[in-house]
Amino acid sequence: MRERRGDPRAAGYVGGRSINLAISARGLKALRRVGLEDAILRDAIRMPGRMIHARDRSLTFQKYSRNPAHAIQSVSRSTLNLTLIHAAAAQPGVQIRFDQRCIEIDPIAGSATFVDDRTGERSTASADLIVGTDGAYSVLRGAMEKCEGFDYQQSWLSHGFKELHIPAVASGAHAPSAMEANALHIWPRGESMMIALPNPDGSFTCTLFWPHQSTAPRPGFDSVATAAAARAHFELQYPDALALMPTFDEDFENNPVGWMMTVRCRPWSTRGRVVLLGDAAHAIVPFFGQGANASFEDCEALTDALSQHAGDLPAALAAYELARKRNTDAIAEMALENFIEMRDKTASRLFRLRKKAEHALHALAPALFTPRYDMVSFDTIPYADALAKSRAQDRAIARAGLGAAVVAGAAVLYAAYALIIALVS
Ligand SMILES: Cc1cc2nc3c(=O)[nH]c(=O)nc-3n(C[C@H](O)[C@H](O)[C@H](O)COP(=O)(O)OP(=O)(O)OC[C@H]3O[C@@H](n4cnc5c(N)ncnc54)[C@H](O)[C@@H]3O)c2cc1C
Repeated sequence: MRERRGDPRAAGYVGGRSINLAISARGLKALRRVGLEDAILRDAIRMPGRMIHARDRSLTFQKYSRNPAHAIQSVSRSTLNLTLIHAAAAQPGVQIRFDQRCIEIDPIAGSATFVDDRTGERSTASADLIVGTDGAYSVLRGAMEKCEGFDYQQSWLSHGFKELHIPAVASGAHAPSAMEANALHIWPRGESMMIALPNPDGSFTCTLFWPHQSTAPRPGFDSVATAAAARAHFELQYPDALALMPTFDEDFENNPVGWMMTVRCRPWSTRGRVVLLGDAAHAIVPFFGQGANASFEDCEALTDALSQHAGDLPAALAAYELARKRNTDAIAEMALENFIEMRDKTASRLFRLRKKAEHALHALAPALFTPRYDMVSFDTIPYADALAKSRAQDRAIARAGLGAAVVAGAAVLYAAYALIIALVS
């Protein structure tokens, strides 16, 4: 295995503040399979619901599921990475080389060229199979794009993100915080939003999602570029959060604006020599908290396909893609839809009523109705089935709503008709 960054075991975690991510049923299932679930959950923080912060500072807690055992888990990326690196390095025959930046891959020959970022030394390596897990800006995918028959689609989101920080109120581990620890916090503001995930030390990592470009009166990262301008905006839009951010000015000025995109491509492999996995194959926007979870599912699917088609790499890679592609396309779509739900709908009373009605329906008829969030985050049914089933449920609810409206309308008309008859007779 070769990795561009330095060895975090030697250097400690480097590179800004370590952000966290939400891991749910799919990621946990894959981690359980390799015996790492307990190690990851040891420092994780349960988030059984979202805490909605309104502009007037009022708070509303929305449960993710009617089942109290269901929660997504806030996990530190550095802990996750370190745990996986230690476990991989302990496997017989595994060698991990750090500071190795891949600059070129020949997908037909199955060879890759690396530069050692400490020494500048170049090296080329060949392998029976190269697995490209090099993220959304994959060098392997770039090389495959030049192969005939490779389809590639990339769409940038009009919004970017910036990380901010809420420290624990008191210093020291597990210090109390002014915010509820067991929740994913959301400040929904229509076109924009901020979220915060808890860290084990009592602090929160906040992520601000704003449009890259402003369209008055809507602010964007281009128009609110300085900490002073951002502070003025936060005083109006996120006053409760701002009060908890002593390093707001430095964080806003120093932390970069990140870009987000959806990548769809196919095929994921070339001639049985190279294959894409994770964000390299299907980068998605982060609003369902499923990018890493989906990538862990890829690992399981590739492992299964390799053992089912032992000795036939092209067949194994084709089976892996067949198992995953329709599902990663589905979660890409649901992640985009969830952005609108999080930034816009979570603030509405009607939406909250609908969520409660969905949970009640699920309790009454679990075989007939399961909310989409439960299917995606607390179950491992294929994403494509979760998408199809939730769309069918939405249509049925809309029909039932229409039916109820027609019946109610007819009843009103009948009552008016009866009243007129009574008045004229
Ligand atoms: C703001 C944000 C929040 C998110 N929140 C969540 C969440 O809550 N839950 C969730 O499941 N997912 C979340 N995601 C998505 C998640 O981070 C990704 O889906 C996941 O990290 C993908 O893993 P990966 O291994 O495919 O790619 P990456 O994590 O990007 O890893 C790629 C690796 O390849 C290395 N690399 C890259 N280029 C080269 C090269 N040229 N040579 C050698 N090495 C190279 C990198 O250094 C890196 O180690 C979020 C994403 C963002 C942006």
